[in-house]
Amino acid sequence: MIPNAYRSLHCNAVRSEHIGQNVTLCGWVNSARDHGGVIFIDLRDREGLTQVVFRPEENAELAAQSHHLRDEDVLQITGKVAARLKGTENAKLGTGDVEIVASECKVLNKADVLPFQLDRELSNEDMRMKYRYLDLRRERMNRNIRTRHKITNAARNHLDAAGFIEVETPILSNPTPEGARDFLVPARLNPGKFYALPQAPQQYKQLMMVAGLERYFQIARCFRDEDLRADRQPEFTQIDIEASFIQRDDIVNLVEGLLVSMFKAGTGRDIPAPFPRMTYQEAMDRYGSDKPDTRYGNEIVDMADVFANSGFKIFRTTIENGGVVRAINAKGFAGITTGQMIRLNEIATQAGMKVKQLAFIKIENGEYKSPLWKFFAGEEQQAMIQKLGAEEGDLIFFYAGTWQEACDILGRVRVEIANMMQLTKDSTALNFLWVVDFPLLAQDAETQSWVAVHHPFTRPKTEDIPLMEAGEYAKVRAEAYDVVLNGYELGGGSIRIHEKDLQAKLFSVLGVNEEEQAHKFGHLLDAFRFGAPPHGGLALGLDRIAMLVSGEDSIREVIAFPKNNKGSDLMTDSPTQIDFKTLREIYIQSTYKEKKPEAA
Ligand code: ASP
Repeated sequence: MIPNAYRSLHCNAVRSEHIGQNVTLCGWVNSARDHGGVIFIDLRDREGLTQVVFRPEENAELAAQSHHLRDEDVLQITGKVAARLKGTENAKLGTGDVEIVASECKVLNKADVLPFQLDRELSNEDMRMKYRYLDLRRERMNRNIRTRHKITNAARNHLDAAGFIEVETPILSNPTPEGARDFLVPARLNPGKFYALPQAPQQYKQLMMVAGLERYFQIARCFRDEDLRADRQPEFTQIDIEASFIQRDDIVNLVEGLLVSMFKAGTGRDIPAPFPRMTYQEAMDRYGSDKPDTRYGNEIVDMADVFANSGFKIFRTTIENGGVVRAINAKGFAGITTGQMIRLNEIATQAGMKVKQLAFIKIENGEYKSPLWKFFAGEEQQAMIQKLGAEEGDLIFFYAGTWQEACDILGRVRVEIANMMQLTKDSTALNFLWVVDFPLLAQDAETQSWVAVHHPFTRPKTEDIPLMEAGEYAKVRAEAYDVVLNGYELGGGSIRIHEKDLQAKLFSVLGVNEEEQAHKFGHLLDAFRFGAPPHGGLALGLDRIAMLVSGEDSIREVIAFPKNNKGSDLMTDSPTQIDFKTLREIYIQSTYKEKKPEAA
């Protein structure tokens, strides 16, 4: 800190070497204690604490005044640095060997009694959000916000050194298909028309490649109107990247270096790169997830060869009809409680399980406890034991159904078992992973129409383009990749389509007719006529990375002013009602009717 007219040092800078010097500090009263007429104050600024002492024998008037100081008053203190009395040093504080003997104390502002104490964790999140500026005074939040700054800075420096140019793109823009609802803004100057807030700067960044910028990045605010969870916010920040004349591995290498530098800046740890890679197919088969947590095993095992001729009819016929039978061996979990079993079945049901319960086998006291066991022939039992490495104390779950169901259900069950068994409790592992070769398209279960798995600008793998032309859409893989850490998707991207005809073809597969293509994406298709270079990119979720670096489990803890899980900011009371007249000026009339409380 540079000394200025207010202060000569910050509150974590005073050391033994300053003993005998006069210093001036500014900050908040962290705590005040009266020890037999001598008042001790811990003065706090963002850097830390310094103890200030008011001794009646040194300055009786000031000591008397200091009795009126209250927590969170803002002070400017001048005094002489002194050694603390022997035995009263505080080894936990950087300033713990010294104290300031106050000679002047200026109250810059008084504080009312705070609605909550800053030195205690508060479970009432609404309260924290309402007084977020107080919540942010806490050490933990201060650290989180500063860690976020450090990793953002590291990202900027890394990308700058790699030749990337930071460019801002419009916030008032047009809808861009990233798979969520848009936030819309009425355009007063164009009555009846709306801007959409960007779900991502996707089209702009591609257009910058057509513009010849070659390497672009942005710490970009994005907006998606969707239901919220712990790691989702209606507005969030991504590190958005695009480059020309590159292939997948160029992006992968760049992003590995970027994440290594961000984690080094945020945690001091050296992350080994390159990260392992896995295809989407393998991730789904083994973990039932495209963002697998590889810190623990309990993998999904295909049991087709064991049960193809099973005496247990459901297994046999499922396989005969083209379905799958898959299992998870929850090692050492035979002691599962009834409550946990009920919970697992609930989760499986939420994930799409059609039967009432997951079939299971418990191995306890040398016995195979399960209604299924008796249906299996001797060699089937042996083959099953061998394939799953089943032994005393294990609990095995089975699912028979479609491949997708087995992935969804066993994938969720696997994660929940790990939670219940606390398999990652004291783990400090950072298991980074690339998931590659995603499918390009997926079929909507209800409408049967094809939708883009990533977004419609993603390039099919060159060797799969004939499959696309042949209409075998389910088999077409995309030049798309996600980077995953401990079960969280940190980011994703793709190599893009840069040819007008291929882009138009994909739009038509997605059911976007020519008129709509011209209306919604005319600018992009036009741009592709004028010399578009091959290009690709990726976006990393900055909030999520900051959350993981800070060891938090919600992104709300690393965003200065987040929304709650209903999308509201309780501090400013946003969103808010807008009066009729203002709405009329922007040609808007609300159709919302508040529900009347039901009559008793
Ligand atoms: N636009 C994508 C997203 O926001 C990222 C990308 O493809 O670069 O997820």
